[in-house]
Parts: sequence; C-alpha cells; structure tokens
Amino acid sequence: MIKNRLIAIVVLFCMLHWNCQTVAPSNQQQTTPLNVILLIGDGMGLAQISAASFTNGGLFLDLFKCLGLIQTSSANDYITDSAAGATAYSTGKSTYNGAIGLGADSSKQITIVEAAEQKGLSTGLIATCSITHATPAAFYAHQKNREMHQAIANDLYPQNIDFIAGSGKPYFNEQLLKAQEYQVHTGTITPTVKVGEKLCWFYNDSINMPKAPVRGPWLKQATELALKQLSNNAKGFFLMVEGSQIDWGGHNKDFNYTNTELIDFDLAVGAALAYAKTHSNTLVIVTADHETGGLSLNAGDLKNKTLSTNYANGHHSGIMVPIYAFGPGAEQFTGTYKNTEVHAKIKALLKL
Ligand code: MG
Ligand code: ZN
Repeated sequence: MIKNRLIAIVVLFCMLHWNCQTVAPSNQQQTTPLNVILLIGDGMGLAQISAASFTNGGLFLDLFKCLGLIQTSSANDYITDSAAGATAYSTGKSTYNGAIGLGADSSKQITIVEAAEQKGLSTGLIATCSITHATPAAFYAHQKNREMHQAIANDLYPQNIDFIAGSGKPYFNEQLLKAQEYQVHTGTITPTVKVGEKLCWFYNDSINMPKAPVRGPWLKQATELALKQLSNNAKGFFLMVEGSQIDWGGHNKDFNYTNTELIDFDLAVGAALAYAKTHSNTLVIVTADHETGGLSLNAGDLKNKTLSTNYANGHHSGIMVPIYAFGPGAEQFTGTYKNTEVHAKIKALLKL
C-alpha cells in the first residue's frame, strides 16, 4: 500500500501541470478529438472516490481539472440500474431499467460504437466482468432485458468491434468469432500481438472474472493493449473501459471490495491519461452510471489512512455522480446535466 501511495504521489507531481486542454486552442487541429476513451466506474460515487484517494494516498482521478456532475435517473425510475445508465451513455436515450440499447418504447437505438464503426473509426470495449453484462452490452446489443445474456452475446457477431476484453467466454462460439476475423485469446494479456488484428481477449474460460487482488493489473494491461491496437486507425477510435465490480462491492456492502476495485479502475484511468498525454488528439472521459450502496465516510485516521464507513443499503442511490474530462473538448463536460447529454457531446466532438 505504501509503495502504491508513493507511486501515485510521484505521478501526481509529474502531471500536475496538466490543464483542461493539452494544447492552446490556437492550434485548430487539437480543439476537437480524433479519439475518445470513455471510462465508466460502475457504482462509483464521490464517497467511493474520496475513500480511494484517501486510503491510496492519491488517484489519477485527482489530476483532472475539468469536472461536472451527472444526474443519473432512468426513464421509469429515479434510481437507475446499470443497463439504463449505460444505454443513456451509449445511445443518448433515457430508457427503462433493464433495457440494453433500446429506447423507453423498446425501439432499437443506434449506439455510439455502431455510429463510430459506420464512420470508419476503430472501436473497443473492456470490462472486468462478462462482456454480456449490462454496461458493456449496452454499447453493442439491443435486448429488452439485461438478463438475456445469450441473446446479448449473439448481438456481438455482426458488430465490427476491433478490441474486446472481459470474461463471459461460455456465451460465445469461438468459431463464429473467428468467422468474424477475430483473433481469440484466453488468459494472461500479452502485449506482443499483431497491430491491426481484431482481438477478442477472454480473461478465462468462465462467465465471471475474479476480484482485483486475484486479477492483478489486468484492466490496466487490457486498456494499454487496446490503445496500442486501436491507435492504428487514422480516422480515430472510441474505447469504453468499465471498472465493473466497484458496484458489486456496494451491493455486498463490502468497503474493501469497493475500494480495491476503484483503485484498480484508477490504474486504467492512469493508462488512458498517459496515452492522452502523448496523443494530444485524445479525449479521456471518466464517469459512473450511478452510485452504489449510499456509502458514507464517518471517520478517518489521518496517520494510518484508514476509514470508518457504512452503506445505507445494498442498492443503487440517486445521488449525482462526477464526470471528469481531459483533452480536446474537455471543457464541454463541466456543469450539471443529465446522463443522456454525454452521448450528444461525444457524438458532436467525434462528428458522428
Ligand atoms: Mg456494469
Ligand atoms: Zn449495481
């Protein structure tokens, strides 16, 4: 832990001069991004971020200068679920809880991934759970209920997503993936793959992925590999990265689970920021679909960096969640607004 904190502090020191934009607006080419990396911490509210920053001695998230607040309600419930939350980000439409890539009237809505593919951009999806789970699913599938994992998986084949990483292998047919020209890998991420290939990387042979202490820095490694893979396209890319299990810590009312998942997710944020630092045409956006657990931070030990916490319940809450942005167009993400507006902003910036 102390080593982690030291690394984070050194990184903070090196990066503090960063501003909202990577370059002065006088350079026309860098006022809009070519690439967008959207990182979603499922269930990541301000209490979770505050706790992780305190216990870890700082986060990459702390480096952002452009912040806003997102109102997360869905079309049929003040308290959203992850399906409606992700559909709002992926399609710009407010929908009912449980819906995957459909509007409130169950009509099929084009996702940001589909729009990007149509325009010739490269696309990628990464999650620390099954890639048929609600958040990643809402970026490529169109199904009435988030529990329809097999139907969601079947929606993946006709898409032309360039980089996919997560668990959920039992839902997929390797031959069908290969027929779609995917290189299918299972197991440890190795950075030595041919650039330009379509990649589908399963964490293991199971539906589920283990917790962060078992996974190690898998999410960061997958993000780095995706960026290497996707950056090959002169037309740009859209990449979604989900820290899926921050939410599950909240549902379990398990603070250590929430906290270790958030700190792990933050490493992927760091990888995205490092990429954006050397690629000034890249916009990094970090947000959440909702808060989970009504986490409260009741007392803290300043010396030992420990906290006394409790969860109001094991469900999602309606409190606004933060949105962070860095890179060209970042200033457009400040203010307080509905989750559906994020989609319109990204779409306009990528000219989709
Ligand atoms: Mg999720
Ligand atoms: Zn949840």
